[in-house]
Amino acid sequence: MLKITDLHVQLEEEDKKILKGVNLTVETGKVHAIMGPNGSGKSTLSYVLSGREGYEVTQGSAELDGEEILEMDPEERAAAGLFLAFQYPVEIPGVGNMTFLRTAVNAQRKARGQEEMSATDFLKEVRAKAKSLKIDADMLKRPVNVGFSGGEKKRNEILQMAMLEPRMCILDETDSGLDVDAMKLVADGVNALRDEGRSFLVITHYQRLLDHIKPDVVHIMADGRIIKTGGPELALEVENNGYADLLEGTA
Ligand code: ADP
Ligand code: MG
Ligand code: MG
Repeated sequence: MLKITDLHVQLEEEDKKILKGVNLTVETGKVHAIMGPNGSGKSTLSYVLSGREGYEVTQGSAELDGEEILEMDPEERAAAGLFLAFQYPVEIPGVGNMTFLRTAVNAQRKARGQEEMSATDFLKEVRAKAKSLKIDADMLKRPVNVGFSGGEKKRNEILQMAMLEPRMCILDETDSGLDVDAMKLVADGVNALRDEGRSFLVITHYQRLLDHIKPDVVHIMADGRIIKTGGPELALEVENNGYADLLEGTA
């Protein structure tokens, strides 16, 4: 599904290398987690995959189903089935959440050469999915993310993901302070979307999210590279021993 090969990235503005040869393959239907100390380049990887400006790819590739995505603009990436959650929980004053979702869904359908979803079908679907995520109708009418709590923003992003039905979902937990209940809801939402045709890349600094979203594969990133790959037990090792042991001899 997603194949990243020898990816090197630096900042556009200054001569600072951040990713120094990332290799990573996420198979269809699998959940991979990336953990790592602060500043190791986890968020940068997700930004580059989503096409955010300010980063320059100096070497390497990232393919989604064999198609190079680094050349695509963000809309094309979305149309190809890539979704980046937990990115920027942007507030959009004046734009109702429902309207925003509908625009996003239809833009994606258009880019895929599909017809727009009818207003009735859209309404039915968004209500059903919101309900399953415990998002109340009121939150659907409010302007996007304005005045939402941290947990509500996260749930709203999961709703966006549920509506867009991406094939490759990238979740960057960043360093957000989600409380346990909010995290559990987010994890439930993700788990509900797990499917043999859909893959996830879950990026997290802490192990706790992985108590709720059980990964198939865990990667440790440090100083712009994946330094170790293993099963779920690798996340527990980090929880128990921290990163120091793993980092020894790799710097
Ligand atoms: P992580 O998500 O693993 O904490 P980041 O990808 O956020 O790591 O950051 C990796 C390194 O790159 C850090 O040293 C960070 O300060 C730097 N960095 C990333 N983006 C920028 C930027 N836009 N401007 C300056 N430094 C940046
Ligand atoms: Mg960080
Ligand atoms: Mg980060």
